[in-house]
Amino acid sequence: MTDLLLKFTVVILLCISSFSEADVQWHTLDNHTVLVQQAEKLKYYDSNQVIITGTQCLAIFDASGDFSQVENMAKKIKQHFKQPVCYLIASHHHDDHLLGMAVLQKLFPSAKLITHQALYASFTVYQQAFEKQLATYQQSITLNEQRLSTLELEPEQQHEWTEKLLQAKRRLKRWQTLSLNLPDIAVDTDTELDLGNLRIQIMPRSSHTLGDLMVYLPHSQTLLASDIGDPLPYLGDANIQQTILTLNTLLDLEIKTLIPGHGRQVTKEQLKITQSFILAIDNHASVAVKNNLDEQTMLESFKFSPLKELVRTPLDEKAYKIFVAAGLKQAYSQHKNQEMQKLNDSSIP
Ligand SMILES: [Zn+2]
Repeated sequence: MTDLLLKFTVVILLCISSFSEADVQWHTLDNHTVLVQQAEKLKYYDSNQVIITGTQCLAIFDASGDFSQVENMAKKIKQHFKQPVCYLIASHHHDDHLLGMAVLQKLFPSAKLITHQALYASFTVYQQAFEKQLATYQQSITLNEQRLSTLELEPEQQHEWTEKLLQAKRRLKRWQTLSLNLPDIAVDTDTELDLGNLRIQIMPRSSHTLGDLMVYLPHSQTLLASDIGDPLPYLGDANIQQTILTLNTLLDLEIKTLIPGHGRQVTKEQLKITQSFILAIDNHASVAVKNNLDEQTMLESFKFSPLKELVRTPLDEKAYKIFVAAGLKQAYSQHKNQEMQKLNDSSIP
């Protein structure tokens, strides 16, 4: 989704990752597809993953931003499946989808990482993001050590927290040996892969980010839409008008199961509501640009109905506020750019 929400949880995840792992759910969707669904309470912070199995090969779609969780998933995959992991498919560059690929690259060294061509072209940026993530973990350990030394705790609590920090340090030491290596395959056109009696289609788009990959599984008419299919979408890095068009094409596609990057499976009806939400954001920003409204006025005057379709829990409400602001800002800047472009074009003699 975005590293914005994720950053707030780094410290927590480092300390409670074994706890969050317990809430990850493995759902076998059919003989070829396992959904690794993120805990509901973490749905805006971390992503779903999907394991696709052919007779010869496995493919893993996306990696959690919590490296402990990625390690646990890899361990379980090695226990459950005989086939080698041939492909790692990163849906886009956001931390909670891409960075954990470094763990998978280490644990499945013969697997080929596949990304969109646009993501490949800027890969050094994401390699730096990976290093930054490790530095943040280091800082949070140091901070927690300092806090622990100033707290007056019962001996039992003191022991518990010292143990947790020791574990966190051991994990970090392991992760510091990792690196996020360049993708082996970069795609910018629809591409088919054969996993052994199972063909899957990789669909590159530029919607949620400049370089998105979705995967379509024809055998079950399942679409792994990642964040393009999120019911409440983060649009801060999106090409908003392109996203609306992409959703149109998804609505025309034969889909029985649609798995978003975050949260439970969604229906086409939900996708239509999401599309109308994005349209509302886009229209509102367009009017704001035309009327020269400032950003604050634009934000405060945005209303969407039916809101209850998108916002059902306090967590949704928190995400909604952040995502509406990010979406409006992005749409505003895109409309502003279009206006400038029109002006430039009209001034050319
Ligand atoms: Zn995302």
